[in-house]
Order: sequence, then C-alpha cells, then structure tokens
Amino acid sequence: MMAAAHAASSGHKVLLLEKNEKLGKKIYITGKGRCNLTNACETEDLFRHVLRNQKFLYSAFYHFTNLQAIGFFESHGLATKTERGGRVFPVSGHSSDVIRALQQALQQAGVEVRLHTNVQEVLTGTAKACGGEPHVTGVRLSDGTILHADAVIIATGGCSYCSTGSTGDGYRFARELGHAVTELRPSLVPFETAEPWVKDLQGLSLKNVTVRIRHGSKTIYEDFGEMLFTHFGVSGPLVLSASGRINDYMEQMPLQMEIDLKPALSVEQLDKRILRDFEDNRNRQFKNGVQKLFPSKLIPVIVALSGIDPEKKVNEVTKEERQSFAKLMKAFPLTVIQFRGFQEAVITRGGVSVKEINPSTMESRLVPGLYFSGEVLDLDALTGGFNLQVAWSTGCLAGTSASQKLENPHCFVQNRSGRNGKEYGI
Ligand SMILES: Cc1cc2nc3c(=O)[nH]c(=O)nc-3n(C[C@H](O)[C@H](O)[C@H](O)COP(=O)(O)OP(=O)(O)OC[C@H]3O[C@@H](n4cnc5c(N)ncnc54)[C@H](O)[C@@H]3O)c2cc1C
Repeated sequence: MMAAAHAASSGHKVLLLEKNEKLGKKIYITGKGRCNLTNACETEDLFRHVLRNQKFLYSAFYHFTNLQAIGFFESHGLATKTERGGRVFPVSGHSSDVIRALQQALQQAGVEVRLHTNVQEVLTGTAKACGGEPHVTGVRLSDGTILHADAVIIATGGCSYCSTGSTGDGYRFARELGHAVTELRPSLVPFETAEPWVKDLQGLSLKNVTVRIRHGSKTIYEDFGEMLFTHFGVSGPLVLSASGRINDYMEQMPLQMEIDLKPALSVEQLDKRILRDFEDNRNRQFKNGVQKLFPSKLIPVIVALSGIDPEKKVNEVTKEERQSFAKLMKAFPLTVIQFRGFQEAVITRGGVSVKEINPSTMESRLVPGLYFSGEVLDLDALTGGFNLQVAWSTGCLAGTSASQKLENPHCFVQNRSGRNGKEYGI
C-alpha cells in the first residue's frame, strides 16, 4: 500500500493486487489490534533494532524516516501517540484506522485496487533497449489473466500468520526470476520448554524480571522486562525479543534459560529479605511463609523446585536452604527445546537476498523493472514498531524509484503493439 501510493504520486497508472477480500489483514492484527506503526526514536537508532542487513536499509530509512512515516499517517487523518519505549500507536487504539489512512492515500494518489486477485507469476520479456536482458513485463493471475506493466513491486510479506495472506508467494516469484532466497525461519516467536510444570503457570505474566539464555557457559541473551507463561512454554516481549537475538542458535537446542525474579536484589540482599519474611511468619509452614515474595501461581512450583519440605516451619529452614532458595529466585531455570512455528511468529527471518537488490532503489539487480519491499526481503527487526517501519521505508523507496524509472522509459519493453490486455505503469 505504501509502495503503491508513492508509485502513483507522479501520475503513473498503478494497480495494487491483493488476494484477500480486503487490504491490510496483517496490519489489522498488529500490536494486539492497536498497531504499533513505528517508533519515535532518533532515525539513526532504527538501525540498532534491525537484526539483519542493517546497512542495506541506510537509503530506505533516510529516504522515508520514522518521523516522515508519522507525518504521512497524520496527513491522512491518523492522529498518533507515542508510548513507552517510543512505540507509536493511533490515538484511537484501532489498527483499522492505520489501514483507513493507507486507503485514503491510495485513493488520493489514484491507485486502482483489485481485491480477490491472486498473482500466480511475475512475467519477463527481453528488449534490445535493455541489452537483451530479461525485463519485467507484467504478471499472470491465478485465473490465467495477464496484466502488462512496465514495473512490478513484490510486497507479498513473509510466511508468518499465513491466514492473513502472507503465504510466502513472493519467495517463489523471486526464485523463479533467478533470485536467491535465504533460509526462512520463524522469529519473534514463543519458546517451547521441557519442564512439565509450565502448564501450571499458564497465563502468569512476570513484570520487571531479567531473562538470561545460555548456550553452554556463554550467555547469548540477557534483558530486563516482561514475559508470560503459556501451556507450552514461554512468550511475551522478553521472549519474543530473545528469539530474534538467538535465532542462529535455533539448531542448537536445548538452551538453558534463567529468570531472575528479583533483579534489583543481590543474593545476599534477597537472603536478608527472606529472613525478614520468615521472622514475620515464625510459626508458618515454608509454603505459606514466602507468599509476599511471588505471585500465588508461582509458589507451589518454586517451593517444589527448592527441594525444601513445604510443610516445614520457616524457623526450621536452615541457612543453607535459605541461601539456595535465594539463588533459585535469581536463576529460576527453564529448558528451551524449540521455537514455535511460523503460525505464531511475528516475523519471518530470511527472505529474498538483499545482495541482489539495489539498496538505493529496491530494484532487482537481476531483472530490471522488478522491485521488492517489506518482509519478503531478508530483513527483520525487533518489536517496537521497527518491522512496519522497514515495510514503510522500503515500500516508499520502491514506489518512488519505480515511478522515477518510468519517467525515463528508454529501458522498458516498450513495443506494446500487438499486446493484449490492460496495461499499467506499475
Ligand atoms: C501478530 C503480529 C503482530 C505484529 N505487530 C507488529 C507491530 O505492532 N508493529 C510492527 O512494526 N510490526 C508488527 N508485526 C510485523 C508486521 O505486521 C509485518 O512485518 C508487516 O506487516 C510486513 O508488511 P508487508 O507489507 O511486507 O507484508 P504483509 O503485511 O504481510 O502484506 C502482504 C500482502 O500481500 C498479499 N499477498 C501475498 N501473496 C499474494 C499474491 N500471490 N497475490 C496477491 N496478494 C498477495 C497478502 O494477502 C498481504 O495482504 C506484527 C506481525 C504479526 C504477525
């Protein structure tokens, strides 16, 4: 949508093909239905939040910055607000308003939109003007219809949450046109853990904890924030970010994960705190003497893991037992056995190799007139609005570049006489 709106802004005939019954099905579910549309950080900070091929995004991010994205949406009637961590949302709290703003942009730019239209293949032809090299000539739809166009932008998304329409078709188009597609993996995705008791913690959300993940003796991820237990393992912001950071260790499971339940306190400070609680609860059993320290759902699990007799009176708990309990609170253990699949992944890691794409235009280096934007490319970022910013920036750059190329038509397959069917610029 962003690419089409910019492609049409200089008056070219632009057609947007969408296989779903409506536009923006994935945007609709973003940010838990609120759409975290970008991040209001300094533009140069965007790069830190991109996990792969940051440098490739230099031109795109500066061509259409996060502040320009906010301006674009505001100019199409979307009031925005900035929340914790620079996350930008619609004031209304409805992702549908982001889609509405994009639809308004499409309408104002004169883009023709065709819904229920599944692209089957991207077509190429050769022309002397292009040195005999293949050049994009249009697309074939799944009903066999051929649509001619001087440029084609592939913005088909990744392959996560495929019910939204992102079924990975763009990877196939790219391969068929000679492009390399790097290995595809689910990312920003929950973890399955080995411990059977995680089921008992399902729904428990932990705030202000530190999560640490180790590969052997090496700490490969550590961060502070919020996480969630599920029926299969763990999820929530810390876990999703961890999956992005440790994606390269996906084949090296199991990985040890530790939750520091009290990151603000050292083991010694924690021991003193437990002792104070025990003094206040002198005659209570151990299982009832730690109630102030944890959410109630966690108590039976952590008490069982401690190995301390839950019926024991707190004043009978030994110093060694207390100290090892403090250590357990600082390193509550879990074993990550695998990532969940694409169906639960916020983003696809991997995609069309950026080595074969011109970063200043988003045009294919192999097939003139072919452009890529968004998640179909081998680009992925952390949560916080960064993935949509990647889509907006690359979309705007691809659209603008395709439109500029059309101003300069010497390198197109221009001999249209004898071609049947409707013709488009982009
Ligand atoms: C649950 C969830 C929450 C998310 N929340 C956020 C968030 O808050 N902030 C953020 O920055 N990112 C978020 N993301 C990531 C973000 O939504 C994606 O990175 C972004 O939508 C990618 O944009 P895109 O245009 O490349 O692809 P998509 O948004 O996936 O759009 C691709 C479109 O192409 C269409 N299409 C595909 N194949 C064909 C075909 N053959 N013919 C015709 N049409 C086709 C699809 O139907 C689809 O409409 C979230 C993702 C998920 C799954």
